[in-house]
Amino acid sequence: MIEKTEKIWMDGEFVNWEDATVHVMTHTLHYGLGVFEGIRAYKTASGPAVFRLREHVDRLFDSAHIFQVHIPFTREQIVNAVVDCVKVNKLEECYIRPFVYIGYGMIGLYPKNNPIRVAVAAYPWGASYLGKDAIQSGIRVKVSSFIRNHVNSNMSRGKVSGYYINSQLAKKEAITLGFAEALMLDADGYVAEGSGENIFIVRNGKLKTTPLTSILEGITRDSIMKIAADNGLEVNETRFTRDELYISDEAFFSGTAAEITPIIEVDNRKIGKGKPGEITTKLQSIFFDTVAGKVDKYRDWLTYI
Ligand SMILES: *Cc1c(COP(=O)(O)O)cnc(C)c1O
Repeated sequence: MIEKTEKIWMDGEFVNWEDATVHVMTHTLHYGLGVFEGIRAYKTASGPAVFRLREHVDRLFDSAHIFQVHIPFTREQIVNAVVDCVKVNKLEECYIRPFVYIGYGMIGLYPKNNPIRVAVAAYPWGASYLGKDAIQSGIRVKVSSFIRNHVNSNMSRGKVSGYYINSQLAKKEAITLGFAEALMLDADGYVAEGSGENIFIVRNGKLKTTPLTSILEGITRDSIMKIAADNGLEVNETRFTRDELYISDEAFFSGTAAEITPIIEVDNRKIGKGKPGEITTKLQSIFFDTVAGKVDKYRDWLTYI
């Protein structure tokens, strides 16, 4: 259950959590054309700080642009809404969910004049997205029987509500079979990403991650690539097959929700020694220091509340 907070920002003003409701004929509720973000604010020595806020807001506007949805607020207004949402709810650390959706009006597939509505909610959420202890101990993963949508079917640069039907099918299948998360292949059979995370592998000390074709351009992925390069690690964005993943030394998922979650097993095959690898652990440690404001070099990734 979501741990509710006091206020939600809705269309320019704060309303009580209980009053942040919509009509059942809201267009997005039926057809899934909504765009959203998942952002985290972390506790630091100087109070809460939002991680890479500007990049998340830019991606929200990019997602809307792809689908020709006009957000009736400026980027600055959304940035401020996120900051204010953390502030008014007096949160020390939290997950933040901006959501842009097509409101009530017509219900056909061309809702030209329906209002575009925007909400921002913030609520406490620990490091438990892929299961208790997942960050420390790593998770078991299953290659899904569902593929990531083809690039001409989904435009993968957008973080779009409807896409997560595909993710939910994959996730439900994996969990039902006793795994923590699904790994989806692309339409050509190459490794794409998890249901809501990007993936990295490590072989012979070098990192590899999926190129930006059928995957979401993750902001955590980008942060890890910068951190890795700054620490002398080679990172290649190149496609790879599931058997290359099976024989990799280390693997991990990355995302705002999953942060850096080690993958210790795929399709019942151990990855490396079957426990979180050395490079994964090192990147985790720098990442968690970074979000906590302890790394000067990456201080401009933080927006202090
Ligand atoms: C949100 C998401 C990610 C991770 O993106 P971040 O910006 O790192 O949070 C990766 N893949 C999918 C499908 C996602 O929805």
